Amino acid sequence: MRNLFDYDRAGLEAGFQAAGHKAFRARQIMKWVYHRGVRDFAAMTDLAKSLRAWLGETATLAVPEVRSRRDSVDGTIKWAMGLGQGDAVETVLIPEAGRNTLCVSSQAGCALDCRFCATGKQGFNGNLTTAEIIGQVWLANEVLKEQGGSVSNVVLMGMGEPLLNFDAVIRAVNLMMDDLAFGISKRRVTISTAGVVPAIYDLAEVSDVSLAVSLHAPDDALRDELVPINRKYPLSELLAACRHYVAGLGERRALTVEYTLIKGVNDSLAQAKALARLLRGLRCKINLIPFNPFPASGFERPGAGAVRAFQTALLDAGYAAMLRTTRGDDIDAACGQLTGAVSDRTRRQSRYLARLQVATHDA
Ligand code: SAH
Repeated sequence: MRNLFDYDRAGLEAGFQAAGHKAFRARQIMKWVYHRGVRDFAAMTDLAKSLRAWLGETATLAVPEVRSRRDSVDGTIKWAMGLGQGDAVETVLIPEAGRNTLCVSSQAGCALDCRFCATGKQGFNGNLTTAEIIGQVWLANEVLKEQGGSVSNVVLMGMGEPLLNFDAVIRAVNLMMDDLAFGISKRRVTISTAGVVPAIYDLAEVSDVSLAVSLHAPDDALRDELVPINRKYPLSELLAACRHYVAGLGERRALTVEYTLIKGVNDSLAQAKALARLLRGLRCKINLIPFNPFPASGFERPGAGAVRAFQTALLDAGYAAMLRTTRGDDIDAACGQLTGAVSDRTRRQSRYLARLQVATHDA
């Protein structure tokens, strides 16, 4: 059985043609699935009965199973989405005036182990399929449709490192931006990476989706500690890849630099100035995210004064530096707090170490 959510438009059309059907049948099905929210082949009434029967026997339209839902006082919704085999990832919907941003997960856990991120602590359990990624969008969109809304922005800032699940993420991103699926502008679909440098170059070859880079430190010594993949791809290489990517976006688009502010670690005025120097010449806007605590993190959020001083230094240096307001922290839905459900700890730990070697070796 093929899950049709695993295919973007090109893949679906190719599959239909390979099976002796017309390519436009794929497009008809996309409209049923993504525009009308129909997952039952039998209900797709403009398809011949024989085609519907063939699909019923050979294909599925399966999305993750919603295991739980929590609603924040600020309107943020967090779902745990079951992937089978006990794993679950988290998806967060952030409603704001005029937009509905969905924060989507791309891996069960994460191999990168950034020191200040709760997801890293649970280890790594595997890549999500395209169906599991786009299924998060489909499910949230169906919920919004009931209130007359839709998902307007997607950020791949949930669990996992999207650029280490490259092919599945690209297909999902293609669907997010496809008019026959979600039709979201490339300006409103953002892949966020901790800095998998070769994959940034690969991304530039196949997409012009918006890119956010999680920087968190203005120098290699500190970034080596906070974001361990920096030991493999240091700042000079990362920033070269960023410049290359931005050059392909066109004059009016910029890279997003994310910087989680941690008290006494990376939040000094000197570090703000060093960051401003480091980013000189890169067309970017800077998102400052005050650290969101989680159990046993060992880190603290800076005070409001320190955050404002850091932001002001960047503004004074000519950068668009925005403070990201924390949403959904009462339901542990804020940046860096996503954990989902995890399998047995020992198995996870050992697999985590093995996969980390594989991931950094392959990358
Ligand atoms: N692996 C990708 C996608 C995850 S996005 C990446 O690293 O970009 C996760 C974002 O959440 C990162 O930019 C990071 O800045 C932020 N983050 C992680 N842990 C956090 C925490 N505890 N508090 C605030 N932000 C955090």
